[in-house]
Amino acid sequence: MHELGITRSIVEIAEENARRQGAQRVLSVTIEIGDLAGVIPDSVAFCYEVCCEGTLLAGSELLIRQVKGKGRCRDCGADIDLDTTTFNCSTCGSYALERLQGEELRVIEMEIE
Ligand SMILES: [Zn+2]
Repeated sequence: MHELGITRSIVEIAEENARRQGAQRVLSVTIEIGDLAGVIPDSVAFCYEVCCEGTLLAGSELLIRQVKGKGRCRDCGADIDLDTTTFNCSTCGSYALERLQGEELRVIEMEIE
């Protein structure tokens, strides 16, 4: 399960940030996960507690914001919803799709004390 490694790095990044701000502990962490990031939010949530053990994040809450996959067709200009099984434009059938959002995987907010 590669979410374990991903969750571990999210926790590391958050802890490093918290340390830099002189935090005693982290109360909550909000992360963004795009539908196209190849990461299952439930698995990240599942691994979170274990990864937080022994860090400033121990006992903190994880909030996950899911970001919908969106793209644009380079041929007809249509805006389309993308998921991991969309490979061509729903309007003209072109495969020249540009991804606009949905690959996010980052910490966007933290509550510290
Ligand atoms: Zn198109």
